[in-house]
Amino acid sequence: MSEAVWNSVLAEIEVSVSRASFVTWFKNTALEKSGEDKVTVLVPNIFAKQQLEVKFNDTIKGLLKKNGVDASSISYTIRSSSPKKEASAQSVKPSDDGVRPLPITRSGTNPVLNEKYNFENYIVGSGNELAYAACQSIALNPGTKYNPLFIYGGVGLGKTHLIQAVGNGILANDPGTKIVYVSTETFVNEFLDSIRFKKQGFADRYRSADVLIVDDIQFIAGKEKTQEEFFHTFNALHQSNKQIILTSDKPPKAIPTLEERLRSRFEWGMAIDIQPPDFETRQAIIQTKASNQGVILPDDVVEFLAKHIQTNIRELEGSLNQLIAYCELRGLEPDIATAQALLKGKQHRPKHLTPKNIVEKTSQHFDIAVVEIMSPKRDKSIVVPRQIAMYLLRSELHLSFPKIATELGRKDHTTAIHSVDKVERMLTDDYVTRQHIQEIRESLHA
Ligand code: ADP
Ligand code: MG
Repeated sequence: MSEAVWNSVLAEIEVSVSRASFVTWFKNTALEKSGEDKVTVLVPNIFAKQQLEVKFNDTIKGLLKKNGVDASSISYTIRSSSPKKEASAQSVKPSDDGVRPLPITRSGTNPVLNEKYNFENYIVGSGNELAYAACQSIALNPGTKYNPLFIYGGVGLGKTHLIQAVGNGILANDPGTKIVYVSTETFVNEFLDSIRFKKQGFADRYRSADVLIVDDIQFIAGKEKTQEEFFHTFNALHQSNKQIILTSDKPPKAIPTLEERLRSRFEWGMAIDIQPPDFETRQAIIQTKASNQGVILPDDVVEFLAKHIQTNIRELEGSLNQLIAYCELRGLEPDIATAQALLKGKQHRPKHLTPKNIVEKTSQHFDIAVVEIMSPKRDKSIVVPRQIAMYLLRSELHLSFPKIATELGRKDHTTAIHSVDKVERMLTDDYVTRQHIQEIRESLHA
């Protein structure tokens, strides 16, 4: 009885709100009659609870009444045991986007994992649903199915969030699991330290893990000794059916100078990419993140943000936080005009940034002349700035390699590829280079 009533309520809500709202807030809800004129709506998570209470309570009440349930009060309760269905890649329907509930994870036992990264607050859309399903499956049964799991995709698309959610999920189910989570940078540094200072215990720490999660494995490129060590760690764990999860900004075959034997191992299990979120998913992400902070954004603001920031969820989040902070400080309600004004200020810079700016600022920073950086000279004092300029042309303006070569007066674009690659590698373990790049970036955006 209550199921039929609720379906009818949902049907009406579905036609009156955006699809993203509907999927985000009403999926996995149910009605429970709790007394004469009291009803309870079961919701999958705290976000849905807040949103329904604040924004939809009157609507729901009205629609219930229309369907013969005259409730004096409605309470919203988070389902205590969300359906813990095992997600598998096969069971994912491409059209099925929105939030999938899994119990809120309370790890607390692994200081390296960040509890804020959980499945609960990860919005699923067509771009990440396979990765999400695989991760959920691993969280429930580590070491059984996809081993290793290799997730790759662009910056800010939720790779780190997802793999930490796996770690948190595993700990929630089995707090005794030994999860080792590291960035590749940390792995490399610890390994180098262990050699340099003859420190004991490096290999043990990694090889005794039940679950090894390594973020941004692309940074292992070009580091032969570390690759060798990682190869042995990988084998030891894999042989004893311990779960290995890796992320990268590119697929295994596109990681330069990766030893063949490692590459093939990365491809043993399952490699899944994460694609940028579509418009609806971006809307859902914004709504969730806002309501997470107790802010309810008008639909036009949500749409505006989702339309203007398309590829990077971190950036999307940044703009949203900026908007919320701006409005909070001034006691304003977030509206479209404010959102437009804020985003405009942001977009200004990249528009005015030209290849010429980058080449000039980089030369200036290193105190060399533009003609020198453009020249064929091979002195180290000029080669390094030139490589950095190439890297910045790539990272700031996303120029193609041939275009980058041209901007620096070169015909052959393979130099540009090598330079960008080299600087990317230096960024991981060369503090000085990182510092130079940061300073040049600051001067570019000043
Ligand atoms: P990556 O590791 O791929 O560069 P992150 O995992 O660091 O990206 O994600 C960047 C930010 O965006 C994080 O704050 C993360 O919580 C958020 N984010 C990314 N994808 C999602 C998603 N699908 N749902 C909710 N938040 C997301
Ligand atoms: Mg990351």
